[in-house]
Amino acid sequence: MIIAIDGPLGVGKSSVAKEVAKRLGFTYIDTGAMYRALALKTLKENIDINDKKKLLNLLENIDIQLDYTDGVLKVFLDGKDVSNEIRMEEVSKRASEVASIKEVRDFMVNLQRKYGNKYKNIVIEGRDTGTVIFPNADLKIFLTAPLEVRIERRYKQLLEKGFKVDYDEFVKNFKEREHRDNTRKINPLRPAEDSIIIDSGNMTFEEVVEEITHLSKKVLS
Ligand code: C5P
Repeated sequence: MIIAIDGPLGVGKSSVAKEVAKRLGFTYIDTGAMYRALALKTLKENIDINDKKKLLNLLENIDIQLDYTDGVLKVFLDGKDVSNEIRMEEVSKRASEVASIKEVRDFMVNLQRKYGNKYKNIVIEGRDTGTVIFPNADLKIFLTAPLEVRIERRYKQLLEKGFKVDYDEFVKNFKEREHRDNTRKINPLRPAEDSIIIDSGNMTFEEVVEEITHLSKKVLS
């Protein structure tokens, strides 16, 4: 069974998807983490992402692995655990930039499909999971919330992770990223036609998780 969870920036997709996967005993796949791992590599190796040749060469040699065990996701880049590093603001920005490049999306969609097909039951989360990666997913959720709510949620999450962030700078980055993700030519953010839209603006984390778990169980039975 495939559950695809999509939605805008900062809505809490990752935390919700991770918890739903845990409760259902499914494998959790965070597609954004894969873009982030690639972004981190371009930063570390000082790659100009507009240099297609260099970027393609990097894609050919990159090794991205996800390990989801006991409700905890670990992300490995070329064998090294980068789970925390990829959450840095600098990486968020670069991830959104590389994600608008066609060659990168083709590579990622292919990798994500392969990854997903390895497992029997998955919760896959990210921008185009229900529209492009697995258009035949058994359940598609589009999680949304007003912009202000999402900004607050993401800011709080960064603080909880121990990152020091300048609020104004963070908001500026967030809005830029939102604009880029929503207006890019390839796969801009849009709900799959057959997705169930959940507006989580006035819902608690637990309520959202319960709702999706309940819907999943209905599909499963
Ligand atoms: O979801 P997360 O914030 O970790 O994603 C980082 C960036 O990766 C997003 O801003 C988005 O541009 C990109 N992304 C994407 N397609 C996905 C997942 C993430 O374009 N399926």
